[in-house]
Amino acid sequence: MTYDLYSLTKKEIAELVSSLGEKPYRGKQIFTWVYRGVTSFDEMTDVSKAFRSKLAEVCTMELPRIERKQVSVDGTVKYAFRLSDGEVIESVVMVYHHGNTICLSTQAGCNMGCRFCATAIGGKTRDLTAGEIIGQIMAAQRDLNCRIGNVVLMGMGEPLDNMENVLRFMEIANDVDGINIGYRHFTLSTCGLCDKIELLGQKQLPITLSVSVHSPFDEERSEMMPVNKKYPLAKLVASLKKYQEATGRRISIEYALIRDKNDSAAHAAALMNLFAGMQYHVNVIPVNPAREGFVKSSKENVRRFLDCFAKKNIPATMRRELGADISAACGQLRHQVQTGKKS
Ligand code: SAH
Repeated sequence: MTYDLYSLTKKEIAELVSSLGEKPYRGKQIFTWVYRGVTSFDEMTDVSKAFRSKLAEVCTMELPRIERKQVSVDGTVKYAFRLSDGEVIESVVMVYHHGNTICLSTQAGCNMGCRFCATAIGGKTRDLTAGEIIGQIMAAQRDLNCRIGNVVLMGMGEPLDNMENVLRFMEIANDVDGINIGYRHFTLSTCGLCDKIELLGQKQLPITLSVSVHSPFDEERSEMMPVNKKYPLAKLVASLKKYQEATGRRISIEYALIRDKNDSAAHAAALMNLFAGMQYHVNVIPVNPAREGFVKSSKENVRRFLDCFAKKNIPATMRRELGADISAACGQLRHQVQTGKKS
């Protein structure tokens, strides 16, 4: 049995260390070394040589390998990472005034089947371990020689379909002796798995929950997002209300604007109706034309859509499009790597 150190919490490393006959406080030392970014056990200089070699026998400390990297003119960096079993996943680092944000993958592929999403093609291969999720941060920090202070779980995969590993990942990344990212700096995006939303609410973490809505009408949403057949809008809103009651946190709504499909004033009005009485913010994104049949809304329609919310004093903003020149849409870089295409 080998243990992936990146998948263990500080407490678990302490337990492991003591099961190997060392004092548990050594666990904290080792945890700290791991997140300082050492590449070998020999760099853990305050740990005895004998114990370092014992650790090397039972533990691994491997990061995802950079398979391809693209740098945008706006500073956005996109990675295709190769995992130990050959799977390829993507992460994106975005540079904002308030610091660096990383967009992480939580699964290799995805089973949710959203029609507009490039990751959905081919379904899910497997869940990522907590270590593979945190490894994306460590590998990017090492490559860019910078600190990453914000995390959005909006890469490949459905975080709530891999909830245990995602929660474990957040606990590890939150640790003050590790990467030390406060829970307020995490955004978890879901397509709307209601049972899991309620479970997450019970944990009362001060993270931001983002929900991909994309249409306020069941028929249309089911067409775009098959998950809506199992968890229709009324059910979704009920779960979000429970989540909000449990956490007191404002919800973020993701809404990708598709030309002449979901960008009318009637859509905006129905969306406000649906979320009436809740604390929320609408994040509008022009759809990324990753799949056939999905075209970005015109500037006028985007403006009209945003104005509907402004008139009712509901916060709605258009997300700044970063990395547009580097094939942007999630899933595309992975596709290029897998088919051997050059970008
Ligand atoms: N599975 C989660 C998180 C990953 S997707 C979720 O569904 O929320 C992150 C966000 O990107 C979601 O809001 C998703 O709907 C959106 N998205 C996927 N493909 C897109 C595209 N082609 N254009 C715009 N947004 C897209």
